[in-house]
Formats: sequence, structure tokens, C-alpha cells
Amino acid sequence: MAFNEDTEKIIKVTVLKNALEYKGKSRVDTVIAKVIGSRPDLRSNLKNLIPKITETVQKINSLSLADQKALLEQAAPGESQKKKIAESSQAPLPPLQGAEIGNVVTRFPPEPSGYPHIGHAKAAIIDEEYAHMYNGKFILRFDDTNPLNEKLEYYEAISEGLEWLGIRPDIVKNSSDDIQLLHEYGKKLILSGGAYVCTCNQKTIHDLRARGLPCECRNDLNVALDRLKKMFDGSFEHNAAVIRFKGDMSNQNTAMRDPTLFRIIDGEHPKIGNKIRLWPTYDFAAPVEDSIDGVTHAMRTKEYELRNALYFAILDRLGLRKPLLIEFSRLEFNGVPISKRKIKPLIEKGIVKSWSDPRLPTLMGIKRKGFLPDAIRKFVLSLGLTLAETKPPVETLEAFNRKIIDSYCMRLFFVKDPVELQIQNVSSKEIILKNHPNNDLGTRKVPVSDSFYISAEDAAKLNINDEIRLMDLYNIKIIKFEPNQTRKALIAAAIPENIRQGIPKIQWVAKSDAIPYKVMITRELYLGEKYNPNSLEICEGYAESFVSMLNIDTRIQFVRFGFCRIDDSNNAIFTHR
Ligand SMILES: [Zn+2]
Repeated sequence: MAFNEDTEKIIKVTVLKNALEYKGKSRVDTVIAKVIGSRPDLRSNLKNLIPKITETVQKINSLSLADQKALLEQAAPGESQKKKIAESSQAPLPPLQGAEIGNVVTRFPPEPSGYPHIGHAKAAIIDEEYAHMYNGKFILRFDDTNPLNEKLEYYEAISEGLEWLGIRPDIVKNSSDDIQLLHEYGKKLILSGGAYVCTCNQKTIHDLRARGLPCECRNDLNVALDRLKKMFDGSFEHNAAVIRFKGDMSNQNTAMRDPTLFRIIDGEHPKIGNKIRLWPTYDFAAPVEDSIDGVTHAMRTKEYELRNALYFAILDRLGLRKPLLIEFSRLEFNGVPISKRKIKPLIEKGIVKSWSDPRLPTLMGIKRKGFLPDAIRKFVLSLGLTLAETKPPVETLEAFNRKIIDSYCMRLFFVKDPVELQIQNVSSKEIILKNHPNNDLGTRKVPVSDSFYISAEDAAKLNINDEIRLMDLYNIKIIKFEPNQTRKALIAAAIPENIRQGIPKIQWVAKSDAIPYKVMITRELYLGEKYNPNSLEICEGYAESFVSMLNIDTRIQFVRFGFCRIDDSNNAIFTHR
């Protein structure tokens, strides 16, 4: 069906704007949500709207960025120049301290040492959102100064994760790009007496630090200079010497007790190979990089609180400009730790199959579970810059997701642990069911005869003479139970519709239309400090055959069961109620 000119234009402009925001690739889900958001009346015509949007997305995604820009300029002059400011200005984030329009630079500095997770999403979204709010710049900086931790696949996974979230950095860089400069600043610090080379072993350093005492390396500048030369000419073995900040060994804040700024690491760095052996720690690289990158507002999680003094002390001694440090609480859900220390062993032991397991807080896992990037963004912005240590309930994220998908998910039938139901006095026929009770998402034809499946849970509640309604079909009365080979079966009779109103309604699958189907339900991965052995439940049952025709990634709602994302032809993953 054709839409009027006005609607066609809205679809086209929305797809084009979305494409330009996402490197030329617009997304059906997002466009549907945006279009019905601005034109709620189109909800009643989703059956035609979704194919129309899908077709437009395909057509526009096949064009070059330049063509997309030109088309948008033609369809809606001026739109292509606008950034996401309009959307951002509705953001619930509080004003940023000392921020001036056009002069804000934020950065997200992940270490490419693992897969991105919900905690990264929070930091990146807040950093990006503030940059846009003040028409500033947002930098993605891979904090890659430990070759033993970093892998190319993690740089890629982080970039892909951010792209999925719809985050578009203005600048992408690596800390390792600046390694020569970082070395220069390290030397400068030693020459000015602000740091020294320590060759004590790890244990001695640890013990003296705990007792608040300096080691011998600290006092002689000539020794430091001689050792500094050796650090560059290869005289020191792996881990044999470190550069330490000359802090205050008796400071109450132990982070100030001469922390390590550089160490010698022999390892192949994924970006620059093995030609560099002297690598800065996060404590040194972060403030220097933030300063030279022009960052005005450096946001980081509250766990770094004790290191703030060190951050500023390093910049002070180097005479570098100091960004404002802003803290927020890190994001994780109850029972779903983001720490690699807790997740990695489960993967190594094969308890959790992959990093995209829907139980995990990785972006791949969250995506696979069925959450949409827009829901994550709204959720993160609703949390804002809170410093509260309490973990937000995952139900809040679910509510944001439900609000987006509710209107365009088809309502379909799945019965868990099926029990057979035979109905007397009915004949075979083909019925037409609506795919959504209120919105027009089309219809489907279902062949029915006298045999059905209902869920064991529903069957268990039924007694002889009970009356129930098979949803969208007819009312029945239970006549008897009959044992068959494996489980209880029910015999019922169809009864006239008008006998009783308000009787319980249950979903069903016609035997002639049933396909074996599994739904994966995930629960908290950890109960307290222990792995939860019941964190994954596979529900087996039957779904109507229509489900097998849907594409992977389609979101649906199984009636009286919950929202699910289709994972492959015979499996779905439960997203939420
Ligand atoms: Zn020492």
C-alpha cells in the first residue's frame, strides 16, 4: 500500500538522518521507533509501515554517504547540517560544571583488554552526550599501554560495540600513538627530580610502601639519570626496573606513596610491535593524555577516587593544563558482575559458552538477549551522574526496552512443556489470527483440527468441568483426563461462546501447526560470590510454525510468556516479561 506524500517524506528523512548518524547504515528498529514516535497515528498501519521502512532502509543503505547527504539536503534542506543537538537537549543530564558551549572536550578511554560491557556503555554514552550537549568534541582513546593485555580483537570489539550503541566519536586515537611523547614527559619528570628509577624487587617495594618508608633508589639523581639511560638501551630485563613518582611515602592516601609510572615490559604490542619496552601505567598515561588531548572534563568511575590527587600532582609537576575530573558510579546489575576476574574463569571452564552469552553484561550478550541500543541510552541517561553505590535494578532497563518494542512486536503462541488436548465436536478449519491486538501488524493463517497443545502449567490447574477459552478460538469444557505414554492428556468439548464471560484464557498451539521450539531464559550469573548453576533455563515446547519464518533478530512477544528475540530457526532468547 502506498502512503501519502507526507508520510513517505517522513520515512525517507528519518531513514536518511539515521543513516548519516550511523556511518551510512540506518536500522529498521530505530527508524520504526522514531517514525511512530513522531506520528503515533501510523501505529494503526504498522503492517504496511514496517515493509515500507525495511525497503527504504535497504535502498538508502546501499547509497554512498555523499549521496545520502545530498538526498537529505534535497528532501529536508538544512537537516544534514544539524547534529543530534535537538535530541540531546532533552537529555536528563545535569549541566556540566564550568562547561561552555563549543569548548567542551570529553573522552572515553577503554583499555583494549577485553570485550566491552554495560559499564563501558555508561561511560561512553555520558561522555558523548555531554560533548554533544555543549557542541563540543568527543574522543575515543584506546588506553593501550600494556602490551601484555591488549589484543587487536578487543580494539575491534570495542569499536563495534560503540557503533551498535550509536556512539560516534569525533576523534579516535590510541595512547600508544603518543608513546614517544609520553617518554619525553617521563624523562622530564626524572630530570626535574619529580620521579626516580627504582630497581628494588616487587616484594621490597610492596613492603616499604605498606610501612610508609622510602627505598634507597629515591635519593640520588645521578643514579636515576644513569638508570634512565639503561632503561632505553636495553640493559634492564623485563620488569627489572620501574620509574616511580616521587610522592609522599607517609601519605595517608597510599596512592601517593611513590606509585609506578613506567615499567619495562617485553611483549608484542598489537599496534606498534616490540620496538618499545618502556610503557607508562594508567596513572601516568591518563592525566598526560587527557591534558595533551585538550580534554576539559575527564569523567571516570568513583573507584579511582583515591588516585585523583596523583592525577593532579603529575600534571602539576609537568606544568600541564589540568582537566576537571568528574566522577560517577560504575554500572553493573545485581548478580551480573562486569569484572573479568569473575567472568573469564566461567568461559575458560566452558560453563559460559562465549562472550556473547545472553547472561553476560557484555554488549554482545545484552544485544543477543534482545535489548535495543536506544533503550540502553535512555536507561544510562536516566541514571545520570549519580554516585550512589547501589546497583540499579535491571527492570528499569527492561521497562525502557519494553516501551520501544511493545508496539511493533507480534503476539504469537508458544507452549512450554506441552500437554495434548483433544476437543470433541469441532472440525478442521483454517483460522486467521491478528498478529497484534491493537496495532495492525497483519494476520496469519493457522490450520486447526481437534488436537492441540497447551502448557503443562495451564493443564495442571484444570479440573473436570472447568471452562476455559483457547485464545482467539473457542471456549471449551474439560471432560476427562487421559493417561498417554508420557504425560497427562486432556479431553474437552467445545461449548457455546455465550455461556460465560470472563473465563480464563490460555494460549495454545494446534498439533497440525506445531514446531518444536526452545526458549532460553537467563537469570543472575552469580548468587552472592558463587556461580548460579540455575542461571540458564532452556524451556522446551511447541511454537506455531509461523515463528520459523521470522528472521533471526526479530523481536516477538510470546503471549503469556514474554518478549523474546529470535536467535535461530528453532530458538529464541527470553528478553523480559
Ligand atoms: Zn628502589
